Amino acid sequence: MEPNENIKMQRYLIETPHSAQDCKLLIEQVYAMGYLYHFDWGCKVGVHSGWAIIEAENESDARLAVPPMVRNKARVIQLNKFDGDPVFFHASQSEHK
Ligand SMILES: [Zn+2]
Repeated sequence: MEPNENIKMQRYLIETPHSAQDCKLLIEQVYAMGYLYHFDWGCKVGVHSGWAIIEAENESDARLAVPPMVRNKARVIQLNKFDGDPVFFHASQSEHK
């Protein structure tokens, strides 16, 4: 398959809140889908959520990394980086006042 240069991959943070009851099943499903390596979990300290940063073409593609059982509850957030220029940072902050 030829890589399509028109498609720019974006980075997405995926958050998968779930109940303690769903924990084992969810992790099994993430494992079965091949995404377990990407995820970090709060489960051992009682914060039942997993987080991963993945690359995808768009938000709906990123959401496919989430098993169907939590797909509706999952948050998928497109990430950007700032370049660290303090002038730019202050300008963009004051726009929201
Ligand atoms: Zn859990």
